[in-house]
Amino acid sequence: MTNGVRNEVDIFMRGLIRRNPGEKEFHQAVREVVETLMPYVNEHRKYKDAQILERMTEPDRIIIFRVSWEDDKGNIRANRAWRVQFNNSIGPYKGGLRFHPSVTQSVLKFLGFEQVFKNSLTGLPMGGAKGGSNFNPKGKSEREVMRFCQSLMVELHRHIGEDTDVPAGDIGVGAREISYLFGFYKRLENRFTGILTGKGLAFGGSLVRTEATGYGCVYFCENMLKHRGDSLQGKTCLVSGSGNVAIYTVEKATQLGSKVLTMSDSGGFIHDPDGIDAEKLAFVKDLKEVRRGRIAEYTTKYPRASFHEKKRPWNVPGDIAFPCATQNELDLQDAEQLLANGVQAVCEGANMPTELDAVHALVDGKVLFGPAKAANAGGVAVSGLEQSQNALRLSWSREEVDLRLRTIMKDIHEKCISHGENGDGYVNYVRGANIAGFVKVADAMLAYGVV
Ligand code: NDP
Repeated sequence: MTNGVRNEVDIFMRGLIRRNPGEKEFHQAVREVVETLMPYVNEHRKYKDAQILERMTEPDRIIIFRVSWEDDKGNIRANRAWRVQFNNSIGPYKGGLRFHPSVTQSVLKFLGFEQVFKNSLTGLPMGGAKGGSNFNPKGKSEREVMRFCQSLMVELHRHIGEDTDVPAGDIGVGAREISYLFGFYKRLENRFTGILTGKGLAFGGSLVRTEATGYGCVYFCENMLKHRGDSLQGKTCLVSGSGNVAIYTVEKATQLGSKVLTMSDSGGFIHDPDGIDAEKLAFVKDLKEVRRGRIAEYTTKYPRASFHEKKRPWNVPGDIAFPCATQNELDLQDAEQLLANGVQAVCEGANMPTELDAVHALVDGKVLFGPAKAANAGGVAVSGLEQSQNALRLSWSREEVDLRLRTIMKDIHEKCISHGENGDGYVNYVRGANIAGFVKVADAMLAYGVV
């Protein structure tokens, strides 16, 4: 970055921080985008004259509401929920719902902002949004989770619709929560229609949606390696998280010939030097998806593996890192450790898992770096396919959806290359994804005039 560009980015960010005080996750996500977009916008005056960057960093609207519910002991509880409808220039709003005590308006604004670019990259007609609540599903009974979901839908149903806004899952919102939410929407509106994605197969869900984010992330990594004349065969992989994205990242990486050494949760990580094969992953699926247990239990079943309490897996030597847990889980020190251990690729399954200075270090170190907007777009892409199937009132086969997912991930990779190839043959996927995602949305905004 030249000094002139740095200066312009700093001025832009000062304004954004003044308008959005205290929202550090949102500031971080915008800075990452603006650093790479500023030179492009300067070269294309039409975007600058129309103040597109200023307009794209302001959400269309934010809905904030209280969710009151009763716990099993009869106590009245109150949580806060949001829906951030960020930008619908290229299609109805689309983006997940997150239930986690760390959810704030800043977190949802960063996620909604990223979603605008990600959805554009998929090539499908989807705008960007995100929502959720500071409700903590951990330790709650099934009926408490159900009552919370129903109470949340009492307000949310007014703001969503198949042509308006179609939410999906995210951290803390899986098949169980989507089912409770969908069932209650149906009751409130007396309409059976695709207003949520990630639904059960019996009521409008799509095959491969559960696996899509993890599988897509591995397909993206495969494309990055292939562009360098390499493959996943024989590679060692480090995965963080043990939720939806992590589980299916491990599954696909293993199917494509890699050995996955680690998984984690907020309690720490497990390291299995023999690799987490299909049988061991079936144990993790049951542990996390059915019994809702802790990853530490893996070592009781597989004693050759070790558990590292409250630690992250990035100091284990490996060829490829897939951060798949949460934001800011890989910092500069971790990036330096990965570089020292000769990592070849870092592919983001989670949203913004890598801190900005760690991204800079990995890109400067010429590591293949797949940013979340591109690498984890497979989930929302198959959500888009679920919407198409709902609109057509039919279901595609597993093979058909998987093939479409593979094709979408390949296309995203090509779009990143067309805007991210450096003169020296290195592809800066961060720049590539930001510009490719930006152009389509910005051109639509220009076409609409001042709205
Ligand atoms: P899940 O709730 O299924 O799993 C989240 C995993 O991350 C769990 O293992 C959880 O551990 C761990 N985790 C969560 N918060 C923290 C934390 N603060 N510190 C350490 N570990 C943590 O969520 P998903 O797998 O759906 O989502 C993971 C990431 O992928 C998120 O960034 C999400 O936005 C992103 N993503 C998800 C998509 C999807 O389709 N689901 C689509 C695109 C992106 P624990 O159980 O201990 O909390």
